[in-house]
Amino acid sequence: MSVVATTLDLHTHSTASDGLHTPTELVQLARQAGLTTIALVDHDTTNGLAEAQAAGATYGVTVIPGIEINTYLPQGRGEAHVLGYYLDTANPDLQHFLQFLRDARVKRGERMVALLREQGYDITWKRVRELAHGTIGRPHVALALMEKGYAESISDAFDRYISPGGPAYVPRFKMAPEDAVRLLRSVRGVPVLAHPMRLYGLEDDLLPRLMAAGLLGLECYYGEYDDATVEHLLALAEQHGLAATGGTDYHGPNVHPTPLGGRYVPPVAATRLRELADQLAHQPAPPFTPPTPAQ
Ligand code: AMP
Ligand code: MN
Ligand code: MN
Ligand code: MN
Repeated sequence: MSVVATTLDLHTHSTASDGLHTPTELVQLARQAGLTTIALVDHDTTNGLAEAQAAGATYGVTVIPGIEINTYLPQGRGEAHVLGYYLDTANPDLQHFLQFLRDARVKRGERMVALLREQGYDITWKRVRELAHGTIGRPHVALALMEKGYAESISDAFDRYISPGGPAYVPRFKMAPEDAVRLLRSVRGVPVLAHPMRLYGLEDDLLPRLMAAGLLGLECYYGEYDDATVEHLLALAEQHGLAATGGTDYHGPNVHPTPLGGRYVPPVAATRLRELADQLAHQPAPPFTPPTPAQ
């Protein structure tokens, strides 16, 4: 399977969130990697899409508009990440809510830096802000820790300081995955559950609950998954009638192990997303009431 050259990568990040390449650089790299189509799914923002699409037109790469929204499962069961494709980025309610999520990330980032400083680490909020060109996330705090020699790599910084249970961990705004799915459907986006192997209870109650909220796809071809895992997820997608998508979660060199385009994704994955988006475009979009801010 992996010997077939891929033409798609439906999960990439840019400097609009925690990726290391600008949207233009990302498109140039996609072109060099022989990709014809990428989806840009920055965290809690669509701000990189216009640049990516303009670069896509220049370099002959189709850029599918997308987003990734990180949410929490109940009872401390960890995180669930929801991707949304072909969402209506012009919707003012969507943009208002995304701005709220990003503002909450700023407060959370400040708290993480304050916790680190209280513990004697010489990290400044000013520097973290400089490192983040868009949506602020833990990777920017990790970079600041690395710069000062407090960690050897981004993963090392996560392990030592900012993962759940770590000395400077602070959660984001607590949103349920069902709400992310509903938010995306309210703007005619195609919601897809990202890297699902991390999820506790996926096949028991989680997938049916998310499908009831409007989930339409499952990220089966993920960078780090071996062929047996991909096959398992493809069977699950088939069983539930979900579209099978995939990508590498590329953030830049040495962030995640898989290079851009380093996971085979069949072209039908993009065709299916497009078909679903076209169907949603002809249906009334269900309304969405944002969850009440608890923090
Ligand atoms: P946040 O959304 O701010 O909580 O940060 C989550 C992001 O950090 C994910 O989207 C990944 O890009 C990155 N991340 C999470 N865990 C790790 C890790 N162990 N090593 C490197 N990057 C990570
Ligand atoms: Mn990320
Ligand atoms: Mn994710
Ligand atoms: Mn991602």
